[in-house]
Amino acid sequence: MAIPPDYVFSFMHPWVNIHTHKIRNLGIELLNANIGAPVNSGVTFSLGLHPWHIAETRLEEALKMLDKQAGNQAICAVGEIGIDRAIATSLEIQIRVFNAQHHIAEKHRLPVILHCVRAWSDLAALHKQMNPKVPWIFHGFNGSLQTAQQLIKLGCYLSFGTALLQQAKVKEVFQKIPAEYLFLETDDSDEKIENIYQKAAELRHICIDELKDIVYTNFVKVFGTRCTKTG
Ligand SMILES: [Zn+2]
Repeated sequence: MAIPPDYVFSFMHPWVNIHTHKIRNLGIELLNANIGAPVNSGVTFSLGLHPWHIAETRLEEALKMLDKQAGNQAICAVGEIGIDRAIATSLEIQIRVFNAQHHIAEKHRLPVILHCVRAWSDLAALHKQMNPKVPWIFHGFNGSLQTAQQLIKLGCYLSFGTALLQQAKVKEVFQKIPAEYLFLETDDSDEKIENIYQKAAELRHICIDELKDIVYTNFVKVFGTRCTKTG
């Protein structure tokens, strides 16, 4: 009996974990690493200076190192970088560091993975101002539907993680945004990416294979085929 082509197509698509701090060698995983970390181990990485670590970092050195490492084939994104209004580091410094890292992302044509705490409008304003050529992915999205819609209107992508298992508000947003802008992740949790997919598929009333198609298609659109190494 011939297997319907649709089935073969979806069967082949791997799990995609767009942002994790713990590698499991399952499907496509973007392991988040700090600047200077070794990046030659057959793993795909996002690399950047997190706003939490700005204060203790020698900035010029770190930025030079990021620029150097960004040329490595294992680096698929600059991140997580962004703005966090819940930390002591001033907004001005955070924006300066963000701009510098964004410049490196543009230079190497790497998508950006964003960390955002109470700074949706700051980052939306920066996006309008910078008009980036590289895609932006807001990781761990937990904002309002209105925020989600504003970011999507700018062409940004939203990645959802464990909040999908817990927060009613996030579940609702997830159900309402267009599929072409979705990613899924585990971040620093011990949750399995399969469980995030399971919940996400349930919320959107589709099967997991269909969801895998959606996320994989988005992945290839944003990252090209260079970063589709699977574990
Ligand atoms: Zn993270």
